[in-house]
Amino acid sequence: MSISDDIQDQDPASFIRDVAASEMHFRKRVSVGILGATGSVGQRLIALLSKHPWFTVSALAASESSAGRLYKDAVQWRINTPLHPDIANLPVQQAIPNLGCDLVFSALDATVAGDIEADFAKKGYPVISCARPHRMDPNVPLVVPEVNFDHLELVKTQQYSEKGMIIAKPNCAVVGLVLALRPLQLEFGIEAIHVVTMQALSGAGFPGVPSLAVFDNIIPYIPTEAERFEIEPYKILGTLKDGSIQAYPLTISSTCSRVPISDGHLQVVSVKLKRKPSREHMIRAFKEFVPYVQELNLPSRCKTPIHYFDEEGYPQPALHRDLESGMAVSVGRLRECPILDYKFVTLSHNTIRGASGGAILLAELLIKKGYVFW
Ligand code: NAP
Repeated sequence: MSISDDIQDQDPASFIRDVAASEMHFRKRVSVGILGATGSVGQRLIALLSKHPWFTVSALAASESSAGRLYKDAVQWRINTPLHPDIANLPVQQAIPNLGCDLVFSALDATVAGDIEADFAKKGYPVISCARPHRMDPNVPLVVPEVNFDHLELVKTQQYSEKGMIIAKPNCAVVGLVLALRPLQLEFGIEAIHVVTMQALSGAGFPGVPSLAVFDNIIPYIPTEAERFEIEPYKILGTLKDGSIQAYPLTISSTCSRVPISDGHLQVVSVKLKRKPSREHMIRAFKEFVPYVQELNLPSRCKTPIHYFDEEGYPQPALHRDLESGMAVSVGRLRECPILDYKFVTLSHNTIRGASGGAILLAELLIKKGYVFW
């Protein structure tokens, strides 16, 4: 019997008991493979995993143009910490499910991720995906650990062999949005949101948007992005019942834009709440948000998932995207909204909180809750 059988019971005491039990399954370092290892997110995964207390990077895979080369020769390393020598000399392999590792992170290009991730799950690999193809599959958990850890239970409805499963993390900008919305959902209920995003260049991968298209410019369109905004939050904020997710009833309107900064997605959010609180109560909800997963001491957790700022000009990407190693969400500019109830600004690091770091936190949660063990 899995120790996670009673995960739907969100009583904190039983949750912590589960965790203690799961420790028994966690006796060795977990060898991980990275699909899409040469891309923006793949590189961030490598940088974070090369000093991780539980995981060892043992396999790297990318497209046929990179396969067969040493990683250091195949990658244009663009992270400001040196590439670990052990990883630099690993061969890049084809993205086929014979990597011989315990678990894979997928940072594959979205156009190829769907079939490749399914192939890995069919061969018994747990797959933690940063890509979009499986996010809205009814039996794939779409999880931000601080928001909806209980949705992991959906993996039990997947039909893959052995430990095979796919778990997705949401769109990089949606992660920051739902983290900021979660305390408001819990305290006041949410009826509607209007959101305008200003998204960093690294969100488009590398080489990404042509420099002449974006220098001295803002592009008020990111292909498929507004659509993600208008579907993923319903699932993430929804309720797990009888083996499926009931969508959270919410109206969302969004416009997504690309702006010439390197990292950090900033969003201007207006929200209509079911019960309109005072401004002080709103601030308290942000500041006092302590999700259950905080109790688990997962290595990639943040101490404070939401940093609330009173300062007029905060948050800003250059100043705040790296808070708590890029895992925290910043919130500020909270004011009454004359159309909806309140408006505020959120900021999160897209390739860390929104992708690599979020995926690693998800893998830690999966293991600690006993969904996979070796
Ligand atoms: P990227 O820089 O373009 O990297 C794409 C990766 O996919 C590269 O390693 C590439 O390998 C590999 N790839 C391409 N075609 C392949 C094939 N046929 N078989 C195997 N591997 C193949 O993209 P990214 O920004 O890192 O994004 C990776 C994924 O994460 C995407 O699905 C994206 O939507 C998602 N995501 C990105 C962000 C972000 O902020 N960037 C945030 C959240 C989620 P080669 O180098 O060999 O071509």
